[in-house]
Amino acid sequence: MNTLENQNTIFPKGDKTSADYFTGTAWLNILVPQDETGNYAIGNVVFEPGCRNNWHKHPAGQILLITDGKGYYQERGKPARLITKGDVVVIPSHIDHWHGAAHDSSLTHIVITNNTKQGAVEWLEPVTDKEYFSFQKESSK
Ligand code: MN
Repeated sequence: MNTLENQNTIFPKGDKTSADYFTGTAWLNILVPQDETGNYAIGNVVFEPGCRNNWHKHPAGQILLITDGKGYYQERGKPARLITKGDVVVIPSHIDHWHGAAHDSSLTHIVITNNTKQGAVEWLEPVTDKEYFSFQKESSK
């Protein structure tokens, strides 16, 4: 099992994320705040096993660079996609989705998020246990 105790993290974990937008425990380290060089911000996110963010969307998309562990990325109405170390996920603008760890593994990814006048993210409802565990049973067959 890939846990926080045995993984080699590249960046410090940072601060706990808001319980308003995450189910379970996750950590955010803002590596590059938005500055005058561009519209993007870069952060490192560590999800403990079972943790995922709420459904949400980005007005100008987002890129995930998976650096450790195992987890899932799901767009509304589509099957969840397994994501592991070395994967790159390009998230289109205005698409409802969530990302997070598998139930038996932590997940670490770098996020590159474009900021707009509408902000960088619009948070929606939590991913329920029913939604989260339904496909995990399927995917572990
Ligand atoms: Mn996202």
